[in-house]
Amino acid sequence: MPASEFSLIEQCFVSKARYQHKHTMITNGDDASVHNLPSNHELVVSTDTAVQGVHWPHDFPLEKAADRAVCAALSDLAAMGAEACWAWVSVVAESTEALQSMGQGVTDALNRYEVELSGGDTVHAPLNSLNITVAGILEKGTAMQRNKANIGDKVWFLGQAGLSALGLQQWLNGQKGGEFISHFSDVIPKIQQGRALRVLGVRCCIDVSDGIFQDANHIGKDSNILMELDVEKFPNWQSLSQELGAKKAMQVMLSGGEDYGLLFTAPAHTKGLNELATWVGVCLQGSGVKAQYKGEDVQLVKSGYDHFAV
Ligand code: ADP
Ligand code: MG
Repeated sequence: MPASEFSLIEQCFVSKARYQHKHTMITNGDDASVHNLPSNHELVVSTDTAVQGVHWPHDFPLEKAADRAVCAALSDLAAMGAEACWAWVSVVAESTEALQSMGQGVTDALNRYEVELSGGDTVHAPLNSLNITVAGILEKGTAMQRNKANIGDKVWFLGQAGLSALGLQQWLNGQKGGEFISHFSDVIPKIQQGRALRVLGVRCCIDVSDGIFQDANHIGKDSNILMELDVEKFPNWQSLSQELGAKKAMQVMLSGGEDYGLLFTAPAHTKGLNELATWVGVCLQGSGVKAQYKGEDVQLVKSGYDHFAV
């Protein structure tokens, strides 16, 4: 194998990564990394793939695309309530320049959240894509899950909804800057907030990557409850409905993906949630999700993103 592959890995990734986690025994550079866990903790692992032309437009900056791919992966750890510790990054790059840009984006994001780059793989092929595996830790038995909602729980939302989808649409329409576009390009994983919710006793949470309706439905189905959401209670409803009109705002807010907010449920007596999130609904008897606007059920044109939908 040509030496340049290894010097590029060093130059684009390894030398730019700043953090080594205290529970790492053997770090990046060997055939695998080795980690131990603090006592009374569990390992939390998630993986995500992002492909140019699918997860980001061909003319979107690669550095930003790589940064948001890492942040999207970290968002899954946030949804479980974990502390983010490690990442393994497999990159397919069409050129040295593309590899450099993706290396910059990956390491910027990992450094920002103080996550160690524990390993990876680098492949030269005629496309650009990243596979990001992330791992974290949390106290035994405290992970927030999708199947832990109960009838009578309140439903809460932390973050924004629909703005990233609007930003992507604007980008595809030729606009290259502005507030909505920054919601698409600057993904913020709610890691601190996820941990705070878990500490407050929240046990049911999902991060919203495919649209609120679709992700709420995962909780509804997995927990065997009917999640009833009130459109007007969402934090960005006022501004969005003023800007787009109620009908379009509803569709965008409920089906637009990739804002990476946290949707969670908790018993009504749970303290401290008001300061972190907004109460948006209740868990009823039934299964799945329904959204209401002024007492009427909302009919969605499209429920969320599905890679295999025709
Ligand atoms: P192997 O052949 O043993 O699978 P590689 O030759 O693919 O390993 O990689 C050599 C070393 O470089 C490994 O320690 C691997 O973790 C690291 N590495 C490769 N690509 C990346 C990357 N994109 N980011 C971080 N580390 C990487
Ligand atoms: Mg090896």
